[in-house]
Amino acid sequence: MRILISNGTVVTAEGSYEADVLVDGERIAQLGAGLSGSGVTTDETIDARGKWVIPGAIDVHTHMELPFGGTFAKDTFETGTRAAAFGGTTTIVDFAVQSKGKSLREGLDAWHAKAEGNAVADYGFHMIMSDVNDATLAEMDGLVAEGVPDFKLFTAYPGVFYSDDGAIFRAMQQTGKNGGLIMMHAENGPAIDIVAADLVADGKTDPLYHGIARYPIFEGEATNRVIRLAEAAQVPVYIVHLSAKDALNAVRDARDRGSQAFAETCPQYLFLSIDDMGNGFEGAKFVCSPPLRSADHQDELWTGLVKDDLQVVSTDHCPFDFKGQKDLGKGDFRKVPNGLPGVEDRVDLLHDGGVVGGRMTRERWVEVISTAPAKLFGMYPQKGAIAIGSDADLVVYDPGRKRTISAKTHHMNVDYSCYEGRSVQGGSDVVLSRGSVIVRGGKFTGRKGHGKFLKRGPAAFARKS
Ligand SMILES: [Zn+2]
Repeated sequence: MRILISNGTVVTAEGSYEADVLVDGERIAQLGAGLSGSGVTTDETIDARGKWVIPGAIDVHTHMELPFGGTFAKDTFETGTRAAAFGGTTTIVDFAVQSKGKSLREGLDAWHAKAEGNAVADYGFHMIMSDVNDATLAEMDGLVAEGVPDFKLFTAYPGVFYSDDGAIFRAMQQTGKNGGLIMMHAENGPAIDIVAADLVADGKTDPLYHGIARYPIFEGEATNRVIRLAEAAQVPVYIVHLSAKDALNAVRDARDRGSQAFAETCPQYLFLSIDDMGNGFEGAKFVCSPPLRSADHQDELWTGLVKDDLQVVSTDHCPFDFKGQKDLGKGDFRKVPNGLPGVEDRVDLLHDGGVVGGRMTRERWVEVISTAPAKLFGMYPQKGAIAIGSDADLVVYDPGRKRTISAKTHHMNVDYSCYEGRSVQGGSDVVLSRGSVIVRGGKFTGRKGHGKFLKRGPAAFARKS
């Protein structure tokens, strides 16, 4: 199958230009002006006049079917990757979970079983480590070799995912040897739990107090601490879902002194605030960790994105229904399943708030939603690029289209939207995954099982050894 995308403006992280893009099979075969008139034979031509052609977006932080507090995130790999595709995202990297006392292998196998034959677009895995011990440290090397080179640890959630400083440092030392990358959820969990227990004892049990208990300074402290540990271990580190200026300051200071500290933020921290968590139990719709912050953090995060102190925007997509799941936390905010839906809306929200809003160029937009995650997570230039030989993961993007976000029309398997009623400019018209059109004009044209496991290499930044 040969598809020509003609007359569009190719927008990449490096620059924008008018060009036709020829797809042959699963790859990009040719790029150039006027290919359509040059006798190239094709099975189909997609007219992209007035539109942009961008590399398929990459979301490196999703949680399909994540178990949390006795329930599971609602999206499966099928529904989640399909919703992602509607929103222009053609690759996800999800978190496989090692359960306490079990091996990394068992956790990874369980996530392969959830995804295989179900995803409609490509997917990779990071590994959540719940135990750091001689056995799991040894297993890390094998996972790096089989294309799962990143390991997430937590300074939050004592008794569940929490690792102490020694465990984090040992895991970091191991990545110094095997080329892996440590990703950190950086909030001071033990201190948060004390504040949360005090609030509940005071009768302050509404979801709003989830946001109040998790002070920004607890995120700033933990972020600085894990970066310092990475500096001591002489390895890079990646901070997930950075939400607070206190944490951004820690990352910026580290980068200013030459450290390989990297960080992502998420749309919820750019567009929503703790004000959304009021209104009684309705606030449960917005319970995630770190929590939504006061609105004055938002401008600083945008500045962080522009100045490259934040390199990536991912979603932390982890959807729980308001009715039947979030309501497990009625009467105690600590029992509300943590997580928000977002995999479908990231690209358009960032286009609307970033490019239309005048905060970033369209090239920087492509970089934070696609190219930077591809480079940091060992997928570039197979993904995240429009180049000869790259996978034909492509989006014909209409920068002028307007729509209103609503749970009534979204494709995520969850009963509410955090952005209900918000109008955004920009939308994906045609979405290709490895040369197959999987979304066209608002209709799904792909197939369950088309998505393949993506074996990823080490990240594309300098290493000490
Ligand atoms: Zn997460």
